[in-house]
Amino acid sequence: MKSETMVIHAGYTPDPETGALTPPIHLATTYERAEDGTYPQGFIYTRDNNPNRQLLETRVAQLEHGTGAIAFASGSVAMMTVLQALSTGDHVLLPDNIYYGIRQMVLDVFVPSWGLQADFVDMTDLDVVQSALRENTRLVVIETPSNPLLKITDIRAITQLAHEAGAKVICDNTIATPIFQQPLDLGCDLVVHATTKYMNGHSDVLGGIIVGDAEDELFQRVMQIQRLCGAVPSAMDCWLLLRGIQTLPIRMRAINDNAMQVAQFLEAHPNVERVLFPGLKSHKGHVIAQEQMSGYGGLMSILVKGDQKTAMTVASKVQVFTRATSFGGVHSQIEHRASVESPDTKTPQNLLRLAIGLEHVDDLIADLDGALG
Ligand SMILES: *Cc1c(COP(=O)(O)O)cnc(C)c1O
Repeated sequence: MKSETMVIHAGYTPDPETGALTPPIHLATTYERAEDGTYPQGFIYTRDNNPNRQLLETRVAQLEHGTGAIAFASGSVAMMTVLQALSTGDHVLLPDNIYYGIRQMVLDVFVPSWGLQADFVDMTDLDVVQSALRENTRLVVIETPSNPLLKITDIRAITQLAHEAGAKVICDNTIATPIFQQPLDLGCDLVVHATTKYMNGHSDVLGGIIVGDAEDELFQRVMQIQRLCGAVPSAMDCWLLLRGIQTLPIRMRAINDNAMQVAQFLEAHPNVERVLFPGLKSHKGHVIAQEQMSGYGGLMSILVKGDQKTAMTVASKVQVFTRATSFGGVHSQIEHRASVESPDTKTPQNLLRLAIGLEHVDDLIADLDGALG
């Protein structure tokens, strides 16, 4: 099946009891045992498993070309669980411009309290990565495109280096989505998503998911922690996610088309110093992006000509774009990233991150043109 078909059919046929095309929401926390003490349907207790969660996991596993998926209550706790599967003294290598919340989690929780060793490096420089790998490196985390600088990491090359050093690789595929990039096919061991973003697509669910090879030891450990510790999504959240995912392929194509046009407009604008979007030929990672992605998504950043004040002024003037954090929904959003990160952030002060949504592209361009003055 192709992705467009999978998102509608994988793992579900109309409910045998009622014929319902969309699955019922299973709110029950506990399931009846048969007279012989077994559980004939395989469900025991909702922390262990739930029909809505199972369907979500089946569908996302297929979309990412994995054999198993593990759903969580947020993207952050999905990543937290992978780190919890490591032990004190293990070394983790992460991108220097990784999603801000994950960086804070590693530095404030896993290094001081869990005893992990962590280094943050430029994953676009293979020599730097090679020399940062150590004997005790268990995990290499990559995020491509990255947020908010839209750096492109060569997934295949990094995976090869990591595997030679005996480390596993997890790729944050939140920004590209499985519609445009399939890291497991390029050699990665695990994929993580904040399903909060494009997967759900409507800015109304918080969620995360890990995808990989169901037989893999690290995957098995992550699933064990999911079930023992219970940071799982509710049945309702799984149901909403499944509804959103049905339109993921068509939303991503429309968002990508809009983003391409907005990026080209911005690149030609006299008040814009630079546009960071991997779909543009001028982008440093464009060639690698073309090789490993089939589209570029809707996230981009611009450096306005001027300083922090200029950037804030531009953001203050938009009418169609919404000033808000996060991305992946139907609304186009604009955000001054440096001021939501910490004072020591490396994000340039004149950077605005744009998340392109599903409005008409003419309205988006006119709005940005007006705001840029
Ligand atoms: C939002 C995001 C996360 C964290 O997900 P939450 O659901 O907010 O916890 C992780 N990685 C990336 C790339 C994200 O955009």
